[in-house]
Amino acid sequence: MPDDRPDGESDERRGVSRRAMLSGAAVGAGALAFGLMSATGTASAASLKNGAWRNPAQGYFPTGGHFGADRGGVPHAGQDVTNSTGTAVYAAAGGSAYRVGWGVLSGRTGNGIILFHGNSTYTYYGHLSRFRVSQGSSVSAGEWIGDMGTTGNVTGPHLHFETHRGGLNGVVDPVSFMRARGVDLGGGWPAIDPGASGDVVKVIQYLIRHRGTSLVIDGDYGPVSVSAVKSFQSSKGLYVDGQVGPKTWAKLVATARSGSDGNHVKAAQTALNIRSAGLRIDGDYGSVTVSATRSFQSVNRLYVDGVCGPVTWQALVG
Ligand SMILES: [Zn+2]
Repeated sequence: MPDDRPDGESDERRGVSRRAMLSGAAVGAGALAFGLMSATGTASAASLKNGAWRNPAQGYFPTGGHFGADRGGVPHAGQDVTNSTGTAVYAAAGGSAYRVGWGVLSGRTGNGIILFHGNSTYTYYGHLSRFRVSQGSSVSAGEWIGDMGTTGNVTGPHLHFETHRGGLNGVVDPVSFMRARGVDLGGGWPAIDPGASGDVVKVIQYLIRHRGTSLVIDGDYGPVSVSAVKSFQSSKGLYVDGQVGPKTWAKLVATARSGSDGNHVKAAQTALNIRSAGLRIDGDYGSVTVSATRSFQSVNRLYVDGVCGPVTWQALVG
């Protein structure tokens, strides 16, 4: 499960310092170790674009809502994402609901949720109008945890989103933090690298099947799946690197609507389930799936037509 996976970044950093120590302290052995690591290079270094992270909310970045913005002499600790009260707020990654309540991080941001993701990493969601998880519960990446609102100090409804590394005092810019993990906080397509795992990889695998290549749906973006994606990229004239990024997603998704059946419907159902739809993955786009799609569109302030087209796809897998 991606829930329990460390994000790899501090492991990578430890790796770097180990290598530096090795090459400094014992040149011969250090050089050998460094050489071996370089030889396996990209294959062994864990990418942070591992499928474990999701966009927490649909909306736009308001003027002055960026990280570090001057808030009366205090730098803004998060990134604001503006939308209407009641817009769904999702867990940016799997983990546990460390604190849920009023002023759990600061009273200024009202009703908030702190999620703990392991590896001294936390995310924070402020100004909520409603909680959909309770303190201490475990959450999966993309799970619906609360609703956007106006609690705390606000001029209008928005999500105040923070990302913390190295403990709760280690606040970092959420836009770059999420970008490094393949998520566009502004709402674009995600980037998924070889070695990724989880439900978003199952979505990719179902979509590749829909395109005519047989694949086991195991949620593991390993060599067989990467090879299938590379073939797809080649057939579409895309850059062939095996990364499922914006251009590949745009070509890979397939519109699913009432009456559709097949692997693209299973892909859509799997993606809806990442966002707490609770559907059976049966490949049948019947009334239950139409209803789930309409609900998702409604709480994300998208056009509500029950059709899983490009805009809905982007919000689902982003
Ligand atoms: Zn804010």
